[in-house]
Amino acid sequence: MLVHDTVATGRSQAEIDQIRQSLRSRYDELTAEYEQAVLQSQVLRLVEVGDTAGDDQADSGTKTAERDTAQSLLRTILDRRAQFEHALTRLDEGTYGFCEGCSAPIPVERLEIFPSATSCVACKQTRERRAA
Ligand SMILES: [Zn+2]
Repeated sequence: MLVHDTVATGRSQAEIDQIRQSLRSRYDELTAEYEQAVLQSQVLRLVEVGDTAGDDQADSGTKTAERDTAQSLLRTILDRRAQFEHALTRLDEGTYGFCEGCSAPIPVERLEIFPSATSCVACKQTRERRAA
């Protein structure tokens, strides 16, 4: 199994371990980032609860915007973390580095910039066009 995977991906076990380590450390960073963002959004909420009395319309509008920003930040972090989790799963399956769309190998340069990429640029663009 292991031998087969190594042949399929053209990666040595050492390389796979290295990729796993860097994916996992990014994953952990995002977990820390997420926890930090949760704390911040809680602080925001406490502030909000603490001084809603006497707010004028503009003030509460700003707070809603701040809360929306905080929530979309949380979502973004979770999305990114899920991508790394997905990449780690694919690494274990031996499919990491291959496009989910067309099964072609993803260029190494792309993986260096986006270690969590699971599709080639062409398939990603096709998917984004479809989503848009
Ligand atoms: Zn592709």
